[in-house]
Amino acid sequence: MKETTQLIDIPAKSLDAWLKNKICDPRWNEWEWQISQRITRIGQMPPLSWLTKTKESELKNVCERFPMAITPYYLSLMNLDDPDDPLLKQALPSTQEMLSEATSFEDPLNEEANSPINGLTHRYPDRVLFVVTNSCAVYCRHCTRKRLWGKGREKILTKTEIQGGLDYIMRHPEVKDVLVSGGDPLLLPTSLIDYLLQGIRKIPHVEIIRICTRVPVVMPQRIDRHLLDVIEKYGPVWLNTQFNHPNEITEKSAASCDLVLRRGIPVSNQTVLLKGINDSPEIIKKLNRQLLKIKVRPYYLFQCDPVTGTEHLRTNISTGIQIMDCLRGYISGLGVPQFVVDLPGGGGKVPLQPQYIVSQTEDRIIFRNYEGKLFVHNEPFVRKP
Ligand code: SF4
Repeated sequence: MKETTQLIDIPAKSLDAWLKNKICDPRWNEWEWQISQRITRIGQMPPLSWLTKTKESELKNVCERFPMAITPYYLSLMNLDDPDDPLLKQALPSTQEMLSEATSFEDPLNEEANSPINGLTHRYPDRVLFVVTNSCAVYCRHCTRKRLWGKGREKILTKTEIQGGLDYIMRHPEVKDVLVSGGDPLLLPTSLIDYLLQGIRKIPHVEIIRICTRVPVVMPQRIDRHLLDVIEKYGPVWLNTQFNHPNEITEKSAASCDLVLRRGIPVSNQTVLLKGINDSPEIIKKLNRQLLKIKVRPYYLFQCDPVTGTEHLRTNISTGIQIMDCLRGYISGLGVPQFVVDLPGGGGKVPLQPQYIVSQTEDRIIFRNYEGKLFVHNEPFVRKP
């Protein structure tokens, strides 16, 4: 596939006049245009037949606390006639975000407490998280860093602040891996991404850079030649993205991943398990099969963090384990991600999987396989002296 920004995905669903008009705009494939045309107020949404006036005014209040942003591209993938559309539910505010539950927290992973310097979290010994902006192309309703959205006031670290983070990493030779995140770091101007990556790459003990971004999913137009020229210079760089539903894999998003891969930048996917959106084995299996087809490795299936304003999207841990049980044996191991829960309070990630050991003695272990059949494994025979 050659590098082009001319692909336009026109979904088969019926589109309202507002959206048709946008799709025909000659600037549709320019990411700056996609950003400028984002829907940031409920009143800007195309008509939603199922949304009552009362509900609409309630949603306006939600946006006061948790802002919204939806790119025309991402909107074009939704079935707006269906209030349960899995993409719409990820992007449209819900009144349930205002319920404050005792089981959720502003910063459940304690990132602020583990932040020695503005924008930088240092929790694991060998890696740091560098949060360079709070802004995103689409504000995902399930976001772990909702607390940073700042009522829609979008912030980007200044060069001085970035330098502060670089100085910290320089002083810590144990840091081998820098995870650049946000918000979405690929919303930074390309020249600032260049400045940031160059600064990181100059630190001799940093081995890899990882970029955490959702732009291939919600605004693939951002993956252009100029950006890739910059990222490619500072390899090894890994790119982690977040496809949560098969409907997000389109010709355009697949092409953007392909452009990244062709520059020698591996692309992995981190799905968030979301109630009523993708919490079934069939959906996750279909998603992972499609990801493999576009050469994106399903890396993590995340238990949704207990963040204030996301409780309605969280599933029980057992749902995730059951999904994992339905994947193993029914899709190539390449398509089986690690199901992980990020422990509250900054305890780090813990992998979870179904129990395959039925019983265990010193000599033998009885396993169950993916079909529920039992098999005996003998431990090595140790001859007594
Ligand atoms: S793109 Fe990432 S950081 Fe931004 S709102 Fe979505 S989940 Fe949060």
